[in-house]
Amino acid sequence: MHGKHKLGKQEPRHATTLASEPQESRPVLLRQSLVALTAEVQRNGFPGFRAKQVYHWLYKRCVESVEQMTNLPCPVREWLVASYRLGGAEVVDRRDSRDGSIKLLFALYDGRRIESVLMSEGPRRTLCVSSQVGCSLRCRFCMTGMGGFVRNCASDEIVGQYLATRRLLPVGERPITHIVFMGMGEPLLNCEAVFGAIRRLTDPQAIGLSPRRITVSTVGVVKGIRRLGEANLGVNLAVSLNGSTEDERARLMPFRRRDRLDDVLEACRRFPLARQHRITFEYVLLDGINDSPQDARRVGKLLSGIRCKINLIPFNPVPGVLPFRRPPQRRIERFREILLEMNYTVNIRYSKGADIGAACGQLAGHADAQLLYDARGGGEAGEPSASVPRGARRTER
Ligand code: SF4
Repeated sequence: MHGKHKLGKQEPRHATTLASEPQESRPVLLRQSLVALTAEVQRNGFPGFRAKQVYHWLYKRCVESVEQMTNLPCPVREWLVASYRLGGAEVVDRRDSRDGSIKLLFALYDGRRIESVLMSEGPRRTLCVSSQVGCSLRCRFCMTGMGGFVRNCASDEIVGQYLATRRLLPVGERPITHIVFMGMGEPLLNCEAVFGAIRRLTDPQAIGLSPRRITVSTVGVVKGIRRLGEANLGVNLAVSLNGSTEDERARLMPFRRRDRLDDVLEACRRFPLARQHRITFEYVLLDGINDSPQDARRVGKLLSGIRCKINLIPFNPVPGVLPFRRPPQRRIERFREILLEMNYTVNIRYSKGADIGAACGQLAGHADAQLLYDARGGGEAGEPSASVPRGARRTER
C-alpha cells in the first residue's frame, strides 16, 4: 500500500501471515536468530542455507507470508507454515500529515493496537516505534500514561513495525534511516524484547541498520539504563528530564517506580558512550510549570560533567484533556539562551505531524485517546480503528 491514501478496511489475514489467532501455539519466525533457525532447518532434514534464504525474505524483502518466499522448495515452505507463525505487526490505519509525517496504527496478533510515526527531515527518515501496549508510568503530560498498561510488545512486534512501514514505502523512495524508541511505552521496562528487536534491527544478516542510528528513550529507569549499557548494543540513549528538581519531576512523573534524579544522572554518567557520542536529554517545556530561568540554570547544573545535548520540546496543548499549556515563545527562547550560555548544545524541537497527533512519545504524550481506547479494548486483528478523533482532540505522541 503506497502513497498518501488512507487504508481501508482489511480482511483478517491467513494464519500463516502476520496476524494470527491469539491461541496460536507455533513459535514466531521473526523471533528466531539465524543460528537457531539454521539448526532447526537442518534438524528437519533441509540444507542449512535455506535458513539464510528465509532470513533474506523476511528482513531484506520484507515479505508478509511464507508463500511469498518463492525460491524455497515446496517442502521447506510447507514445513515453515506448519512449524511457525510469522509474527510482526499489521498496518490497519494511517494518517498523513501536511508536513510529511505518517502515523501508522498496527494490529497485533491478539487484536491489541500500537502505533508508529514516520518522520522525514532532510535526508533522514526516522521511525518512532512503540515498545509496550499502553504504559504503566502515567506521566501527567501523556495520554498513553492516562490509559494505563496493557502488555509488553514482543520483539517481533517491534521489528514488525519497521518491516510493515518499509512495505508501505514505494520502491526507490528514501529508506528508513533512523529508529527511535519513543512511541507507546517505556522501553527500558521491556528490556528483553527491546534488546532482541535491536539485535535484529542491527544484524547485517537481518535489517542491518547502524546502532548509531537507533535511540532508546527512557524517562530514567536506572536499572534499564545499566542493562542497556551492559548489553553493549552501541545504540544512543535519550533521557526525559522534564523537571529541574526531584519535586518537579515527581509532580510530572508521579509513578511509584520512578528512580531518584541523582541516581538517573549517575547511571547516565556511567553509561558507556562511544567517542564523539552524547546522551540526549529531553525536556518538555510546560508553561508556568518547569520553564523558568531558574529551571534552566538548575538543568545546566544538573547535567554538568555529562557528555550530552539538550532537546527542548515546547508542549503541544490538548485543551480539555491535559492541564498544560505551551510557554510563550520568549520564555522558550530565554530557557535555551541560558543553557547555551552554560555551553550546552541545545535544540528546540517542535512536534512533527501535529495535525495528525503524531509527535513522538515521551516528549509530549503519546497515543491519542481513541487509539488508546483501541489498544486497551483490543478488537479483531485487521479491523481498522476509527479514522478520526472521537471526543478529545488529538495529542502529541
Ligand atoms: S511519556 Fe512514556 S513513560 Fe511516560 S506515561 Fe507516556 S508512554 Fe509512559
